[in-house]
Amino acid sequence: MDIDLPSEDDPRRLEVRRWIVEHPNPTPAQLVDAGYVTAHWPAPWGLDAEPELQLIIDDELKRAGVTKPLNPIGIGHCGPVLVVHGTEAQKDRYLPPMLRGEEMWCQLFSEPDAGSDLAGLSTRAVRDGDVFIVNGQKIWTSLATVASYGILIARTDVDTSKYTGISYFIIKMDLPGIEIRPLRNMVGGFGDAGFCEVFFHDVAVPAENLIGPLHGGWAMAKETLANERVSLSREGLQWGHGPTVRDLVDLVRSRGGLDDGPLRQRLAEAYIEGEIMRFHQLRQISAQVNKKPGPDASLRKALKDPHGKKVFTLAQDLMGATGMLAVGAEPVWEPWASGFLFSPALTVGGGTSEVLRNIIAERILGLPHDTDVELGLTWSEGRAKARTPAPA
Ligand SMILES: Cc1cc2nc3c(=O)[nH]c(=O)nc-3n(C[C@H](O)[C@H](O)[C@H](O)COP(=O)(O)OP(=O)(O)OC[C@H]3O[C@@H](n4cnc5c(N)ncnc54)[C@H](O)[C@@H]3O)c2cc1C
Repeated sequence: MDIDLPSEDDPRRLEVRRWIVEHPNPTPAQLVDAGYVTAHWPAPWGLDAEPELQLIIDDELKRAGVTKPLNPIGIGHCGPVLVVHGTEAQKDRYLPPMLRGEEMWCQLFSEPDAGSDLAGLSTRAVRDGDVFIVNGQKIWTSLATVASYGILIARTDVDTSKYTGISYFIIKMDLPGIEIRPLRNMVGGFGDAGFCEVFFHDVAVPAENLIGPLHGGWAMAKETLANERVSLSREGLQWGHGPTVRDLVDLVRSRGGLDDGPLRQRLAEAYIEGEIMRFHQLRQISAQVNKKPGPDASLRKALKDPHGKKVFTLAQDLMGATGMLAVGAEPVWEPWASGFLFSPALTVGGGTSEVLRNIIAERILGLPHDTDVELGLTWSEGRAKARTPAPA
C-alpha cells in the first residue's frame, strides 16, 4: 500500500491550487459548489472522488488555511444517509444548507434506557393522517440547542421484534411540543450547546419527513452509527477534531524538549502509537472502506479513543502544576486542557469501547454472537438473567 500523499506536482493538486488562487477566501457556498466539502459524495453534492483525491483536496485546503463549513453531525452522520435514502425533494431541501453549515443538525438516538442497546428504544411515533405524533425522551443529544434539524429514530410498530418496528425521521427542532434541556458537563459541553435531554410531547411531525420505508429505520440507524464511527475516528484526538500527538511533540520541541526520562519515554510511545493510527487511517481510506463504512471503523475507533485519552493525560502531566489551574491558564495549552476534561467521554460516545469490541469479535473475527442476542434478549434482560440464580 502506498501511504505517501501524491507528489507536489500531481495535476490534481495543481487544479485545487488553481481553484484556491481564484477563490482566496472561499465562502461556504463556493466550497460546496466546487464539491470540496464532501468530495467523496456523488454529484451534485460532491465529486464522487477517489480516496486519493479526497486526501489531496483536504491537504491543499489545509495548507491554504481554508476551513470547511462545520456541521459535524449533519455532514458526518446524517448527510450520507440522506444521500442514499432521501427522496430527491428531501435532498434538495436539506443538503445544501447542511453542507454550507447554515443549518446545524443533531442526532436524536440515545434514550435513558437505550444507549448501547439502541434498538430497545421506546420513543413512539404514531401515524395520524398527514402527521406522526411523537412522544418520548432522548438524551445526550449533542448540539440540540443550536440545531435547526435532527434525525430521530422512533418506534412505529410495537408488535414486532425490536429491530423491525423502528422508523427514521427528520425533525425540525422548533416544532411545538419539543422541550430541550441542556445538561452540563466538565468542559461546559460543545460551548454551551451542551449535550441535552430532548422531550417530545405530542409533537406533530409531517409524514413527508419520514426517510426510507416505514418501520425500516434500523438499517439506516446502523448506517448512521457506522458513518459516525468513521467521522469520529479521523486524525484529531477529540473525535477527529483538535490536536494530534504530532502537535504535542512539536509543542514540546518548541519549548526546548524534555529532560525527564519517564516523560520522554511516554511521549515516544504515544508518538509511535499515533503513527500506527495514522497509517491505519490511510489504509482505511486507501481500501475505500469510507465509501461504505463497515466494522473496520469500529476497530479504528476502539484503538483511537484510548489513544486520545492517553495523549491528553500525558499533556496534562507535561503541563505540571498549571494543568491543575482553570482551563486557559496558558493559551498554548488550552486545547490540551479542555481536551483532557473531555477525554473520559471519548470511549463512551458513538459506541462504547466494550460495544465496539463486541462488533469486532463478531463481525471481524467471526466469533459467535452473544447468546443473549441469539435468544433475542436485550442487554438489560441478559444482565437480569445473569443475576438470577440458576434453579437448584
Ligand atoms: C460526549 C457525548 C456525546 C454524545 N452525543 C450523542 C448524540 O448526539 N446523540 C445521541 O443519540 N447520543 C449521544 N451520546 C450517547 C452515546 O451514544 C451513549 O452514551 C452510548 O451509546 C452508550 O450508551 P449509554 O450511555 O446509555 O450507556 P449504557 O449502554 O447504559 O452502557 C453502560 C456500560 O455498560 C457497557 N455495556 C453495555 N452493553 C454492553 C454489552 N452488550 N457488552 C459489554 N458491555 C456493555 C457499556 O460499555 C458501558 O460501559 C453521546 C455520548 C457522549 C459521551
